[in-house]
Order: sequence, then C-alpha cells, then structure tokens
Amino acid sequence: MNAPRHFGLDRHVGKTPLIRLRRLSELTGCEILGKAEFMNPGGSVKDRAALGIIEDAEARGVLQPGGTIVEGTAGNTGIGLTVIGHAKGYQSVIVIPETQSPEKIHLLRALGAEVLPVPEKPYSNPGNYNHVARRMAEEKGWFWANQFDNTANRLIHYRTTGPEIWEQTDGKVSAFVSAVGTGGTLGGTTLYLKERNPKVFVGCADPYGAAMWSWFTNGNTETNDGDSFAEGIGQGRVTKNLEGIAVDGAWRIPDQDALTILYQLLREEGLFLGLSSGINVAGALRLALERGPGQTIVTILCDSGAKYQSRIFNPEWLTANGLKTDMPLETLLSKP
Ligand code: PMP
Repeated sequence: MNAPRHFGLDRHVGKTPLIRLRRLSELTGCEILGKAEFMNPGGSVKDRAALGIIEDAEARGVLQPGGTIVEGTAGNTGIGLTVIGHAKGYQSVIVIPETQSPEKIHLLRALGAEVLPVPEKPYSNPGNYNHVARRMAEEKGWFWANQFDNTANRLIHYRTTGPEIWEQTDGKVSAFVSAVGTGGTLGGTTLYLKERNPKVFVGCADPYGAAMWSWFTNGNTETNDGDSFAEGIGQGRVTKNLEGIAVDGAWRIPDQDALTILYQLLREEGLFLGLSSGINVAGALRLALERGPGQTIVTILCDSGAKYQSRIFNPEWLTANGLKTDMPLETLLSKP
C-alpha cells in the first residue's frame, strides 16, 4: 500500500517559509530573513508550542482522549491549543488578560474555546491569568498546558524551528534574534543552533516594560522603565524555558521603531504583521548595524497584523497613543 500523503491539521504545524526582508537586507548588506510563523494553521509561532505541549502530555498519559486543556495565554497559545486540540479531539478553556486585543478574544470564542477574560495582574498576584488557569486545572482535573514552565515548549523549537532554520539557510545562519514571551522560541532555537555552530550569534529583542534586557545584560530582572503595546512578549522573570540560556546581545526596542518597520514591510513587501514581529525585526536590524555586513540573520515573524487591526492598524488608535506610521526606515539606521 502507498504511504498516506494527506494528514490532519496537527501534522501541518511548522515547515514555514523563510522570507527575505528585501529593503533591510539591501540597506545593511546582510541577509535579513524572517521565519513566516504567521503561516501556521492557527496563525502564529505558538502553534508549535501548542503541538509540542499536547503531544508531550499525551505521551506522559496526562491528557486523556476527549480531555480538556486549560491555559493562561495572551491569546496565540490559546488559539493554537484550540485548533490543534480540536484536530486531536480535545476541548479548551482559555484564561486571557482582558487587555489583549478584542480580535484575539473574539477569534478564540469563534473557534469554540471557552474564554475567561480576567483583569491584568502581575505574576506575583494570585489573580494573574496563569495562576487562575492552574487552579482551574486542579479543581476540575483538566490538563494545564503551563507554557511558561513546561519545557515541552522549548523542546519543539529545538526539534523543529532550529533545524528548519539551519536547513533553509544551508547552515549559513550566522545570527538569530527573538523576543521573549515564554522564552520557548528563543530557548529551544538557541539550543539547537548553538549545538550546530557555537559561533551563531544570538540576540534578544526586548520591548520596554520587560526584564529580559536586564537579565541578559546585567543578570538581574529589573524591569525597563516604560511600556509597550506589543502583545505576547514582555517577560519579567526567568521561566523554565529560559533556564540555562545565554545570549550574545540584547536590545531594548521602542514601539515606534517596531512600528516603523511594520509599516515599511507592509507597504513595500506585502507583509502584514503584529508588533512582536516588528520588535524582532528591529532587533535584527540593530544586530546587523552593530556587527556589520555579510551576515545571515534570522528572526521570527510571529503572527499576522489581522489580530491587531483595531489597534496598530487603526489611525485613531495610533494618534491617541502618539505613534506614527510615516517615519522613514532610514531614521533607524543610525541608532546604535
Ligand atoms: N509574539 C507573539 C505575538 C506571541 O503571542 C508570542 C507568545 N506569547 C511570542 C511572540 C513569544 O514567543 P515565546 O512564547 O516562544 O517566547
């Protein structure tokens, strides 16, 4: 019998294209490449984590057929857990901070997740969305995905994202840049790339209001002054997915820099992306400028702009928040 050629949705996570960011590559003399994670079935890099966490739970016997998955998430992990969960016969309950974009909350409901928006609270507060999800799992006997501290998250990036980047660049990748939400993407991809070539330069792009720049630069988790509208990134503690991970450089990226890049990519290269992708590409640009031409720099295009139309693609919202869409890319070239 012929081997099957067609599979369910859960078998179509990853193997995303690596897209050349033309203008930034020309301006810097580097190859700046974006991994098109928005092309995953649930529309984000978090589909990988969702699949990795579900398959690990199945293998450990902690997720039973027909079971319920509960998770605290900024949205994308919840979307991934819901669509991949449905493909594999599970239900999902999603606890989400109510500050996240209405598009993500509506989408989760449309997909059939049970959605519980909660007030935004710091991790130290028992009302924080992660703690709410953990308690619900304990009370109801559901499976808690625990993406921040479940290392099945970084393991799937070690097994898939890292090898894909290596193969798609024929081993030429010389630098990798990522922001941190759970740290799964940065942690797992870094572990793989450094194993293949210890000289690969890894950089962390951090939004304001987060602590990863301080952690990687000074070894403490002091939060940067300021704030960011980027959703899904901006971490204040060293999660299990980040344990043992060191980077070679870290940058604090203002939202305006990320937005300038997002609008250039949209208008000139047809890429419609969310703000965390802009933070990542801005980090890749800083790296290119600091380390000079000739490098092959890979970063992550985490999700699509469609989830943020009411915010960063809404002129009134932008004006109200003092953000501009007409800054020339050249204004970012003299930064370091
Ligand atoms: N960008 C977006 C839009 C996200 O939702 C996330 C995940 N929270 C990330 C980036 C960061 O990915 P990770 O959790 O692997 O650090």
